Amino acid sequence: MNCQCGEVVTPGLLDVFKARQWLIDAASPLDSIEDISLDSAAGRVLAQTVVAPLDMPGVDNSAMDGYALRLADYHASLGGAGLLVLQRVPAGAGVLLLPAGGCARIFTGAPVPVGADTVVPQERVTLDQHGHVHLEGALVKGANIRRQGEETCAGTQLLAAGEYLNAASIALLASHGIDTVSVKRRLRVALLSTGDELIAPGALRSPGQVYDSNRAMLNVLLAQAQCDVVDLGVTADSPHALHHAFDHAQSAADVVLCTGGVSVGEEDHVRPVIEQRGGLHFHGVAMKPGKPFAFGYLDAGRFSVTPLIALPGNPVASLVGWQLLALPFIHVMQGRRPMALQRYSVKAGFAKRGPRGRCELLRVVLDGSNEEPVAQLAGGQGSHMLSAASQAHGYLMVNADTDVVEGGDYVYYPISQFAA
Ligand code: AMP
Ligand code: MG
Repeated sequence: MNCQCGEVVTPGLLDVFKARQWLIDAASPLDSIEDISLDSAAGRVLAQTVVAPLDMPGVDNSAMDGYALRLADYHASLGGAGLLVLQRVPAGAGVLLLPAGGCARIFTGAPVPVGADTVVPQERVTLDQHGHVHLEGALVKGANIRRQGEETCAGTQLLAAGEYLNAASIALLASHGIDTVSVKRRLRVALLSTGDELIAPGALRSPGQVYDSNRAMLNVLLAQAQCDVVDLGVTADSPHALHHAFDHAQSAADVVLCTGGVSVGEEDHVRPVIEQRGGLHFHGVAMKPGKPFAFGYLDAGRFSVTPLIALPGNPVASLVGWQLLALPFIHVMQGRRPMALQRYSVKAGFAKRGPRGRCELLRVVLDGSNEEPVAQLAGGQGSHMLSAASQAHGYLMVNADTDVVEGGDYVYYPISQFAA
């Protein structure tokens, strides 16, 4: 991937939304495309705009189980015995001609016979013993008919390039008879944890050791984001070990994602190693949790640079850094349009002293028992405390140097928006 970034490194902490935009602007979409079966296309990103090959619906058809008739015939029959049912049209039937002076029994999805201009739902119809229909209420010409091409006409755009294929968009393509799609190749992401204290879940823990929960979490998040993960395990806290791991990561993936060791302590080697290898683009974001976040490139020659996203070691900081900053970068590399953040105003059901110098994303649950939902803290708010993060419905954002007042309105970000 070619590095397209411009100016490097800000002094101090970067505003979270500026950092997000910086990442979005820095990401280059993958070029590689493949044609795959629609059956396996869920979660993939369309590489080309798809145009409707045919009209939808294909013919005028009934929106109801009922009776198809020509309104003029019905009015003409009112003085006499009524319209006789002369035809039966189930779904799957061909396009028939409505017999003159009669009407057709018709079912949802069946083609409206040529000559009929209205469908009357069966609930409004009674049949007399001779098979004549009698209707309740007024009739509106054209009612209950789905018109040919009313949703899409052949040649109109169905889905744009860059669209994420969800269940409904797969169904939309299937409904137009499409069984193959051109999509972007899946993104390969190399994942590594750094830290001498880290051990694998399942191992016996000695005092001072910490289970590597970030890699477990990021494996899930990357899978949800439709990435292929190259899991490189745990790397020791040393420049040598990091260089070695980054060499491997760079040759194996489109993007490198690491956690830990990215703060400014003596044992934090990620930033200096990125600086040695090509380019640090920024380090430090004015948010809590998630301050020690870095973005840069691992240079491996003139035309080959691999982006590196370094997330904090603290587990909740790592999670928030992924959701707000890394994910939009990944989306753009996948060929997707970056999602606009969904947010709305919610009242706080608690008071809390706010953070100094950076915004805070409080993990909250929404209490829906009142008329208006109220946010309550989901548990302890330490950046090492996963319990609250595991229960939270969303983040309540508190601006820098602002205290939370009970009953005050704050911006709320639902966590569900970060799921794919
Ligand atoms: P660091 O960012 O390396 O200074 O780590 C900050 C805190 O996060 C320390 O308490 C680490 O032990 C912890 N930590 C770092 N990496 C992980 C990880 N992969 N899983 C769980 N905790 C971690
Ligand atoms: Mg560390």
